[in-house]
Parts: sequence; structure tokens; C-alpha cells
Amino acid sequence: MINLILFGPPGSGKGTQAASLVDKYNLLHISTGDLFRFNIKNETALGKEAKSYIDKGELVPDSVTINMLKAKVDENPDVKGYIFDGFPRTIPQAEALDALMAEKGGISSLLMLDVPEEELVGRLLERGKTSGRADDLDENIIRNRQEVYRNETMPIFDYYFTKGKSVKVWGVGSIPMIFNRLSLELDSL
Ligand code: ADP
Repeated sequence: MINLILFGPPGSGKGTQAASLVDKYNLLHISTGDLFRFNIKNETALGKEAKSYIDKGELVPDSVTINMLKAKVDENPDVKGYIFDGFPRTIPQAEALDALMAEKGGISSLLMLDVPEEELVGRLLERGKTSGRADDLDENIIRNRQEVYRNETMPIFDYYFTKGKSVKVWGVGSIPMIFNRLSLELDSL
């Protein structure tokens, strides 16, 4: 199995690249952001709880997020592998993911899309014009998400780096160029 963490700050292009990687490598894409937005749209209890955090640019509590992720993995046991996008975002989430993947060969690799912060803010403000995402419309919320990333999520890079699994990929350039860089890393696994 290939169990890949697609990592990087908000706006780094994880969702875009995950879509192409899924086609090429036949993996199941699990995006916690997409799962939350699906629940918000359908006004589920989970969606209502998540919305209060997401709209402020904060993280949804680990217990809620981890249970949702586990359920999605358990619903899809017979796949060739997984691409985790937007998860893990905290060290406890990474530990939970390692436990969950233990019997599936563990995490193969963490690929980080490396993009400078000023470029990210510009991309997200641009996306906000068409995405309808409330968390992309306000520069203060966008900056809060970047700060949460730096403080809570970035340590996950080091967590997997010490296990020899983290790789940085330059995330600026055309979408196909970045896809090639990611593919090269995956093909070398
Ligand atoms: P981005 O484009 O900012 O990377 P996502 O679409 O992955 O965002 O997620 C949107 C929001 O959903 C996040 O800002 C956060 O509030 C919430 N969220 C997504 N994944 C997680 C997670 N693993 N843990 C906690 N909150 C999460």
C-alpha cells in the first residue's frame, strides 16, 4: 500500500494535486476539509459543530476530527492506499493516524508543498472570490489559519522527518510542473 500524507499550508495546492495523484496512482483521497464542508452543507450535527471553528480559521477539536477520519478509513478498507489531505494537523492527530495505519503498512511518506506565505495569502484571497468559502474571504482569518499552521501543524513535518519520511517539494510553478515533482518522489518510494 501507499499511504501518503499530502502536507503544506492552507493554499499550497494540496487539493488540486491530490486530484491528479488519485488518478495516476489509484489511491483514495481523504480530505478532512472536504468532509467538514460536506457535513456543513448537509447541516449535520458534525457540520454545525465544525462550522463554529472553521469560520474563525481555528482547528476543529482533535476528538471530532479523528473520529470522522477513522470512520472514513474504515468505510473503505479495500483500497490500494490513501492520500491524506489536511490531516494530520496536530501531533495527536499524527499519532492517531499512525495507530490507524499500523496494520496497513504505516505511513509511506509525507510530501510537503513548500510555498512562501505571501503567495499563499494572495492565492486564498483569489480563491475566496469564487469558492464561496467564508474562511477564504477575510484576510485576518486567512492569516490566522497560517499562524495555526505554523504553530500546530508544522511540527508534524519534523515528527515524520525523524522517521525518515518527510520530503519538501517546491510548490511554486505551474500545476503540471508541481505534479511532476510529486510524482518523482512517489515513484521513488
Ligand atoms: P485549507 O485550504 O485551509 O488547507 P481545508 O479545506 O483543509 O483548508 O480545511 C478547512 C478548515 O477545516 C480548516 O481551516 C480547519 O478549520 C478545518 N480542518 C480541516 N482539517 C482539519 C484537521 N485535520 N483538524 C482540525 N481542523 C481541520
